[in-house]
Amino acid sequence: MAEDAKKLYEELIEKRRKAALLGSAGSILGWDERTYMPRGGVEHRANQMALISGMAHEMFTAPQIGELLSKLEDSDLVKDRSSAEAVNIREIRRSYDKDTKLPRELVEEISSTTTKAQGIWQEARKKADFSIFKDILGKVFELNFRVAEAYGYEKDPYDALLDDYEPHATTEEVARVFAGLRDDLVPFVEKIKDSGKHPDMSIIENDYDIHRQKLFAKAASAAIGFDYTKGRLDETTHPFCTGIGYGDTRILTRYNPKHFGQAFFGVIHESGHGIYEQGLRKDENFGLPMGQSVSLGIHESQSLCWENIISRGKPFWKHFFPRAQQTYPEVLGDVKFDDFYFAINDVRPSFIRVDADEVTYCLHILLRFEIEQGIIHKEIKVADIPGIWNEKFTEYFGITPPDDAQGCLQDIHWSMGALGYFPTYALGNLYAAQFYAKALEEMPNLHNEFAQGDFSSLKKWLNEKIHFQGKRYPATELVKEVTGKPLSHKPFMEYLEKKFSPLYLD
Ligand code: ZN
Repeated sequence: MAEDAKKLYEELIEKRRKAALLGSAGSILGWDERTYMPRGGVEHRANQMALISGMAHEMFTAPQIGELLSKLEDSDLVKDRSSAEAVNIREIRRSYDKDTKLPRELVEEISSTTTKAQGIWQEARKKADFSIFKDILGKVFELNFRVAEAYGYEKDPYDALLDDYEPHATTEEVARVFAGLRDDLVPFVEKIKDSGKHPDMSIIENDYDIHRQKLFAKAASAAIGFDYTKGRLDETTHPFCTGIGYGDTRILTRYNPKHFGQAFFGVIHESGHGIYEQGLRKDENFGLPMGQSVSLGIHESQSLCWENIISRGKPFWKHFFPRAQQTYPEVLGDVKFDDFYFAINDVRPSFIRVDADEVTYCLHILLRFEIEQGIIHKEIKVADIPGIWNEKFTEYFGITPPDDAQGCLQDIHWSMGALGYFPTYALGNLYAAQFYAKALEEMPNLHNEFAQGDFSSLKKWLNEKIHFQGKRYPATELVKEVTGKPLSHKPFMEYLEKKFSPLYLD
């Protein structure tokens, strides 16, 4: 019997691996599409990608996988719930059920509607005219309702949608944590705004030679632990990170010759994602839940930890600022450390989420989360979104978007059918701060090490506590496991107050 279960398990693993291998061939095509592919190749590439994703989907949802799972779920292999085998079986079951629950015609309708919706959204955004987008957006939301019904949920239809991005999370828990965050963050942002203090932005909005930017960013990303023997850095228009497989993780950025920080912090951000991907033990666990990230929120916690907490922090620049001065002597040669540090930590309410600083960023997310709640619970009508957006925006930021392009039309997510995605960005900030507070408690010397250019203790800690665990724990459990406490907005607020009060409020 035990022998039997082992054989069946091997069979299951083999099938998953093959499907994942095919999927990773799709990832490399996707990477190529966004980097080096000539524009004329768009249609052919779309055909290749559709074929591969269709084939991979068929392999992931093959009835034999369901049969193997049923047998294995009765075996001794699942007895120890946190064993690698039990985790793999549990999580393969989850994804198998989700993948097989959506009827084919619904999947096709979503695909054709969202393709159309993205085109219409682009036009609407360009013309700053929500009325163009309203009807198709209503259709996309309708499809989201049907997805939630097809997946099923216990309490809240939003749970079913959230689960695609933040598995096992509940709306109730997220809403509770976000409400606490809003109550503390809104007045804090207001105080910073009212301080009237502003750094000299000409320090970083200046001429920065792109070739030197590349070398400098790459050196910093290698220093924090992104392994370039198992990864590479390229250029693209929309930066991202893709983990192709063992030994191959790719990060992408774009360079702005008139700005110090966009590429630099972008590269560190993507390196944070990359270090997570490289830490997932894909040599043993490729294609298996034990070799996959926990959730989008946890992924984002890794990028934000390195980008905001570390690379916008003082200890990091104690090491790197003299090097930045050597790299860009004509701009930074005479700049004082404190002025540079203030400039890379500029905080001001602004309309566009992706340009937001680390203090105001979460407010952008809270606003979207609250509107999504209203839509899913049928308390907000599509036509009312612009009005509600602007009202909430004014309440949270103290400024009002001049038009819908700078308001409710700025993000692509809803046109793609992605409802429930936004919260993961704010969760990432909260997870990052809570993890980092614990790391610092366990390793009080971290800041001295950073000032020497040594980031290895933190990387090792993140590897062991988070990356090597794969999907062993859902995000909320992982947070408890690592920090000993449930998720809270408090460590994030404490971090912000400690860092930004001296800059703005003292
Ligand atoms: Zn990210």
